[in-house]
Amino acid sequence: MKSDIKILAQTHIHTVYSAHAYSTVGEIVSYAKQNGLELVAITDHGPNMPDSGHEWHFANMRAIPHKIDDIYVLRGAEANIIDSNGTLDICDAFLKRLDLVIASIHTTSTIEPCEDIKKNTQTYLSVMDNPYVDIIGHSGWTDFRYDICEVLSCAKEKGVLIEINAHTVTTRPKNVELCREIAKNCARIGVGITVGADAHSAYEITEVSGATEMLYEIGFPEELIMNTSAEKLINHIAKRRGKTIDEYIK
Ligand SMILES: [Zn+2]
Ligand SMILES: [Zn+2]
Repeated sequence: MKSDIKILAQTHIHTVYSAHAYSTVGEIVSYAKQNGLELVAITDHGPNMPDSGHEWHFANMRAIPHKIDDIYVLRGAEANIIDSNGTLDICDAFLKRLDLVIASIHTTSTIEPCEDIKKNTQTYLSVMDNPYVDIIGHSGWTDFRYDICEVLSCAKEKGVLIEINAHTVTTRPKNVELCREIAKNCARIGVGITVGADAHSAYEITEVSGATEMLYEIGFPEELIMNTSAEKLINHIAKRRGKTIDEYIK
């Protein structure tokens, strides 16, 4: 069974700013153009990740134009959630300047794995209190399980999107079932999602088939996938931020 879901607005991409990623913004845009994408979001890790750079990276992203060679470029971040109060490792003053903020748990390096579902649920609920967070990144990690109903209901209410991460689905087989369960519940509750490539080079920005095929298999409603086009994504984020399109992205 092959999915025909097309992800034309890629929301999760790392650049050479992260030591374990390999492409520049220019290379990413050029690969996006060659492959028919409409939008790329540059979302490097916050500074608490061991291979990340200085926080000033996020302060100065206005140096990157919002449109390069007809491709929309969003200035973003994948901030690390660093404690159970939902604290992020990028300050609000810098988050405020960004177009797209993903907040993620990385039990490999920036927060301890935790089996306490109640505590993990509270962590995610607190993260969503931060008005600058647009997307909860790859939450399908089995070493940080949470109450899916409670977190997704809050996400729906606040217009926060839940990422289905293609990288997690393909490289962390033990997490596949949980990702599927999260996706099924997003469909049931009516929560918007993004399909994130979590690309670590330009050549990975179109590699989302692990996630799109899973979504196709479970009959996931396409209207809830918010990054199938640049227009759909931009409209959603601008609206939830209470801005017009022009105020959001010029
Ligand atoms: Zn991540
Ligand atoms: Zn990532």
